[in-house]
Amino acid sequence: MIIAIDGTAGSGKGTLSKRLSKRLNLPYLDTGILYRKVALEFFKAEKKTTINFDNETVERVIKVIRTINFTNIEDTNSLRDDKIGLLASEISKIKAIRNILNLKQTQFVEDSIKLKEGCILDGRDIGTIILPNADIKFFITASPEVRAKRKLKEEGRANLQPHEQNCMFNDYLLKINQRDENDFNRENSPLKKAIDAYEIDTSLLTPKEVEEIAINKIYKKKT
Ligand code: C5P
Repeated sequence: MIIAIDGTAGSGKGTLSKRLSKRLNLPYLDTGILYRKVALEFFKAEKKTTINFDNETVERVIKVIRTINFTNIEDTNSLRDDKIGLLASEISKIKAIRNILNLKQTQFVEDSIKLKEGCILDGRDIGTIILPNADIKFFITASPEVRAKRKLKEEGRANLQPHEQNCMFNDYLLKINQRDENDFNRENSPLKKAIDAYEIDTSLLTPKEVEEIAINKIYKKKT
């Protein structure tokens, strides 16, 4: 079975994908990590957290991509850094870069089908561009406020003084909105709910509840 999962940054799509991967014994690819890896290596090479969109810069990004081994990228704190996430969302606007990373994703899908007759991919354009014929598609959302609060908790900031927490919350909220703005409004492969995707708003749900909703849809689809 091929499962496509899209959604906004920090909405819980990664958590759902990992749970489904374990439960259904299907290989899983977090496609965001490919964009983050490119952003991190570009940042290391150029020491810049912003990017121009001229041909020369695109060529330099492509040169960086050629040095990357995309198999089994190790998930590190540097890859998860907010500035790398934002840079990734800038780099991901470039069509030539998307085309290269799309090939890596297609390769993963082909290998997984041979090995396990299916896979799970999560990202922004999975249901619309990468896997338009997926057996089932999900579109995961949560309010920006809930996502900022979750991040605050994840980063162990819950025991800070209220005014410090407030400050961090506002900073996270700003970055989340900035990333949504980039992902929804870019010209190439914007974040969009596929017409045949099931939308799950995780704002008021636990990871287990989200998993159960998704599993019910998957089982219904199978029968
Ligand atoms: O999912 P994650 O937040 O790690 O992705 C980082 C960035 O990579 C996203 O904000 C998005 O701009 C980009 N991305 C994308 N297409 C995908 C996956 C991620 O454009 N399929």
